[in-house]
Amino acid sequence: MIHNHASQDELERMCLGTIDSEELARLTDHLLNCAECETRFGQTRDYLRAMQRALVTLTPDWPEPEVVN
Ligand SMILES: [Zn+2]
Repeated sequence: MIHNHASQDELERMCLGTIDSEELARLTDHLLNCAECETRFGQTRDYLRAMQRALVTLTPDWPEPEVVN
């Protein structure tokens, strides 16, 4: 059991795909074993999607970032 929970910053970088592969491997492994972080990851992803939709609506020229599904 891994005890290091994912930080909010790490979850956001996972969603945005800006995390390095070593961190991603560790966090993915943790999320598979931690319902709490898995839930937080889902919430973070939904939040970022909502933010991106809002930005695209408000600023039509805003480049749509990629989000990991
Ligand atoms: Zn955790």
